[in-house]
Amino acid sequence: MYQFLDDLNADQRAAATAPLDGVLLVLAGPGTGKTKVITARVAYLMLHYKLPPEDIVVATFTKKAANEMVERLDVLLAQFPEVDHKKLMIGTFHSICVRILRRYGRLIGLNSGFKIADEADSRHLVKKAVKTLSQEGVDLASKEQDVKSYKNYISSHKNKAQLPDDVPSAKSANHRNKYLDIYREYQEELLRNNVIDFDDCLLLTHTLLKKHPYCMGRVKHVLVDEFQDTNAVQLGLVYMLSGYNESHLHNVTVVGDPDQSIYGFRNAEAENFFRMEDYYRQKGVTVSKVSLTQNYRSTSNILNLAEQLMGQQFGKREQKKLKSNKKVNLPVELFSSADNKVEAISISKKIKELVDGAVFRCSDVAILLRAGFLSRVIEQELIHSNLPYQVVHGRSFWENKEIRLMMNFMRAVASDMDWLGYSRCLEFHVAGLGPKSMQIIEDLFMEQRAHNEPGNVLAILEGIAEGRVKGIMAKSVAGIKEVLDIIKSSRKLLLDDKTEQEQLSTMFNNIVTKTKLVSIIAKERADKHDSPEEEIEANLNELQNQLVSFNIQEETLLQDAYETEDLIEVADESFDALAETSASLDKLTQFLDSVYLYEETKDAKKTAPKITITTVHGSKGLEWPVVFVPALCDGILPSQYALNTSLDEAKRQAALDEERRCMYVAVTRAKERLFLSYHHRALGFSMGDQAKTKSRFLNLPKGFVQSSKAAMLKGPPLNLSQPTSRFANVMRSSPSLNTTYKGFQPASKLTGNAFTPEGLTKISKPTKKRLGMGRPLRFLKK
Ligand code: ATP
Ligand code: MG
Repeated sequence: MYQFLDDLNADQRAAATAPLDGVLLVLAGPGTGKTKVITARVAYLMLHYKLPPEDIVVATFTKKAANEMVERLDVLLAQFPEVDHKKLMIGTFHSICVRILRRYGRLIGLNSGFKIADEADSRHLVKKAVKTLSQEGVDLASKEQDVKSYKNYISSHKNKAQLPDDVPSAKSANHRNKYLDIYREYQEELLRNNVIDFDDCLLLTHTLLKKHPYCMGRVKHVLVDEFQDTNAVQLGLVYMLSGYNESHLHNVTVVGDPDQSIYGFRNAEAENFFRMEDYYRQKGVTVSKVSLTQNYRSTSNILNLAEQLMGQQFGKREQKKLKSNKKVNLPVELFSSADNKVEAISISKKIKELVDGAVFRCSDVAILLRAGFLSRVIEQELIHSNLPYQVVHGRSFWENKEIRLMMNFMRAVASDMDWLGYSRCLEFHVAGLGPKSMQIIEDLFMEQRAHNEPGNVLAILEGIAEGRVKGIMAKSVAGIKEVLDIIKSSRKLLLDDKTEQEQLSTMFNNIVTKTKLVSIIAKERADKHDSPEEEIEANLNELQNQLVSFNIQEETLLQDAYETEDLIEVADESFDALAETSASLDKLTQFLDSVYLYEETKDAKKTAPKITITTVHGSKGLEWPVVFVPALCDGILPSQYALNTSLDEAKRQAALDEERRCMYVAVTRAKERLFLSYHHRALGFSMGDQAKTKSRFLNLPKGFVQSSKAAMLKGPPLNLSQPTSRFANVMRSSPSLNTTYKGFQPASKLTGNAFTPEGLTKISKPTKKRLGMGRPLRFLKK
């Protein structure tokens, strides 16, 4: 029928072509083609059931996953130009929600020009809320850790779809009441500042659709990948998005794997599979299920290890019998190191071997970490070894001062209502502007907001420049005039008669030049770096590239939503506001949204071939031929939290199980080679060195992993009759490798250079020692 269906196995095809009506659940293990199925199903819905792409919502877990799906659709649909899949409403739940809110947020009192608060904004506003309440006489602790616990409280309620009025425990415990007061005040602060936080993206859309479900009434099918990581709000959104269109009620496809549920800390619940099933069955909707067992990603050694790992879980779980389709099956290797530095050296040596052997390219290799801080030591070693790498998903880049500042200046360019963005620009650029002056400006802004006007920081600054505001020093007025010039001239550049890329690029350069931020920040950093300018410029270049190459999403679905008169009016107003702006300003806004939504803005695969370093959480749904999972120590994976003996037993077990699933996700990313490692000592922590022990997850029966040394000597079992293409290449180019592959090499034949399965390598010192190499005299004596 359709060629893309021929690429699927029978079970996959059944899922992709399931009837349009009703609910389809695909619960299956890693690498069984769930994402492939959901992509094929989207194509099938458009081609066979003739659903317009703009009526289909596809929620993916990362922006990158969405981009990849669109790319796969480019190929699948190449012969069907009549289907414009670029119009699909596809992205993360957060980005889909932001687009809905930009269009219809007004219906719940949100200004369409809102910005998304980042971590710093949000902390700042919690602190402000605490301050306000303290001034009103409420006794509140305000240390950093208190602020953190207030934030956690707020976030956990938001993830349960509870705004302050919905919090059930409000009346009971006294200290909870204080927390709730902070929550309430914090929401007010957000509104006053015209920002929404990360959790609000979902929660406010939830609120909007509850009140005005017809907004998204045209949706005819909702598909969700990685469903095991949805939380209560996201589940609610699926119900609402699929529940309004009378002719297409409850048409939902979700795929996922409960064993890969690793977002419990964000209140995700794998039980949502079962909740959803019950919910729809009670409504009388047909629920069908498909399971997939053929794995197309990993070798059987990798799958066996993964299954063994999960078998030791506390919680109940169905055994999985995944079949591998790989011919080559090398052992999973495990190595231990004296400390984390030595571990990093071993990893880069191993990568060098693999790459020098021409078996793999750097881009085939990923290093997956339980926590971002673990990357520093490894990065240092990769730099030292001249191995190109990229840290994907790390926030560290975005935390550089030059990046944060540029983002704030661009926020100011994109919106006059963004007081938080403006305030950071003023703090940086305007000399002598102390807290008192800042308070004067903020009060003016809040006053405007209190009168229900959209606060306009630019207008206030103009007032100051014209001498109409009292209390600001002359020196600061001069600085404020400069900020005004930077913002206005940048905006003008966005309207120039140039291509969008050129507009954005010159606007960016304009800010960099006029703020002089390179030399200012370089001075601050001079004592820590040899050439800070170079580093700052490189970071700015990277940011500029990301901005200019950012892909704007089409707004089709939002442009002709369900036809209800009030709604159209509201939507049109928001659109008029946008219509006055330029296309590059829209792009700037979307770029800022995506950064503040913690989305990957660039496609890692398209850049030069580099090793990928990412967190396990960032690796979801992805795969690499070679995967390293270092730092498998108790206290890292499983994390210290899960080992906390003061937790009650049930909580501790649940936490340990989530850590175990984390490791499961990590190991199941590997296609051909998997290297696990741990260290006995962690160096360089501020509190001094720390002794470490091997992760309890590595207590496995014999035969699942092989220590690295042993693997080098024995030569792993290998089926040479049908090598994969990659291996075939190596063998052709290096005939001597064939012999080594076949089995054990007698010591007498080994020279300084030995072949290992991965290619050419030097024999390690301990191995030489064991073989008596390099000591001919002693040999002779014997
Ligand atoms: P995860 O649980 O990690 O998200 P998944 O179930 O979504 O995994 P996919 O990423 O869709 O799995 O597929 C894994 C790999 O197997 C991909 O490289 C995909 O192209 C390949 N694959 C899936 N199905 C088939 C098939 N029928 N024939 C050949 N290759 C397939
Ligand atoms: Mg997937």
